[in-house]
Amino acid sequence: MDCTIALVGAGGFVGSHLLWALLERTPWKILAVDLDFHRLQNLRSQKDSRVEFLLADIAEPQIIQMVSQCEIVVNLAAICTPSRYMSEALAVIESNFSHPAALADACAKTGSWLVYFSTSEVYGKTTLATEVLDEDASDFIQGSVKASRWSYAVAKQLSERYIAAIPNLKYSVVRPFNFIGPWMDFMPGVDGDGIPRVLANFSSALVQNEPMVLVNGGEARRSFTSIHDAVDFMFCLFENREKAYGEAFNVGNAKNELSIRELAVLMRRIYARILSVPEEKLSPFKELSGEAYYGEGYEDSLRRIPSVKKSKSLLGFEAKIPLEEALEESLRWFHAHYTSECKRS
Ligand code: UDP
Repeated sequence: MDCTIALVGAGGFVGSHLLWALLERTPWKILAVDLDFHRLQNLRSQKDSRVEFLLADIAEPQIIQMVSQCEIVVNLAAICTPSRYMSEALAVIESNFSHPAALADACAKTGSWLVYFSTSEVYGKTTLATEVLDEDASDFIQGSVKASRWSYAVAKQLSERYIAAIPNLKYSVVRPFNFIGPWMDFMPGVDGDGIPRVLANFSSALVQNEPMVLVNGGEARRSFTSIHDAVDFMFCLFENREKAYGEAFNVGNAKNELSIRELAVLMRRIYARILSVPEEKLSPFKELSGEAYYGEGYEDSLRRIPSVKKSKSLLGFEAKIPLEEALEESLRWFHAHYTSECKRS
C-alpha cells in the first residue's frame, strides 16, 4: 500500500523508534513534525527523500492543516513527564487536550485516520489491590483538583472522549503501559532538566553513580513494555485498520510487572554486570516522599496491569520481550551514550 503518514512528535522517544521502523518496513512517505529532532540527527543528515522534517508546533493552525492532509496521522506530541504535571498543569492540559482536539477536528474534515496516543494513566489513582485494567470496562478514578498530578490523566481522558464524540472521525486510541528503551527521556543536567521517568532517572543515577530515589519506598507497581514491542503493535494496528477504527487499545506486557523497588534492585544488578563490578560498589538507594521529590500535588497510581485481550483478539498483537532483556538493552545504551556525552560536556 502506498501511503502518506504524519508523525506528530516524531522526534520523541516513541516517534523516533517508529520513524526508523517505518523506513525499514514500508515504502510510505513520512511527514515528521516536532520541535526538536536531536534523536534523529543522523537520519536528517542522510536527507532521505521519503521523510519531510517539519520543525514546527502543532499549536499552529496551519501546521494542523498540513498534517491533516496525510492519510494516517499519528499524534504522539505531549507533555508526559509526571514531574511537570504539578508545576505546568495549564501547559499539560493544552498539550494533552486542546491541541489534540484541534487536530482531531481537522482529521474529521479531511477523512484521515487519526491514531491518538493517550496513556495508561487514564485509569488513574489505582491501588495495590487493583487488578487487570480493561479498555472498555475499567473505571477511571482521579484525585482532587488540588492534586494536580491528575491534570495529565484528566486531559487525556477528555481528549479520548472528545475524539470518540466527533461524528465520522476515523480514529484509534493507544494507551501505552510504561514503554522503555534506548533514547528514553533525558539525563538531568546533561540533555534536559527536571525529573525524567523512572527508567531514565534510574539509568542516569547508575551511570553517574548517584543514589536511585525510591519514591514512597518504591511500593508502586508498573508493567514495563519494550519499545520494540510497542513499535510492533503499531504495525499490527496499521495492518488491521478496519478492525481498529473506534477502539482504544492497551499496549503493554502484563508479564513484566514489578514494584519500583524491585525494578531498582534489578537495574542495579544488571548494571553491575555490564560494568563487571560487584553490586556493592554502586551507590545505595535513597527514599523520599512523593511530595518531597516531585512537589506539592503529587499522588500516584499504585498498580497498572494491562488487559491485553483486545489487542490480541482484534489485531493479533502480543508483547514478547521479557523485562530483563529490555532493561539490559536500555542500560547498555544509556551507558554507552551518556558516558561519551558526559565526557564531551
Ligand atoms: N519513581 C521513583 N523514582 C524515580 C522516578 C519515579 O520511585 O526516580 C516512581 C514514581 O513515583 C512512580 C513510578 O516510579 O511510582 C513510575 O514513575 P514514572 O515517572 O516513570 O511514570 P508513571 O508511570 O508514574 O507515569
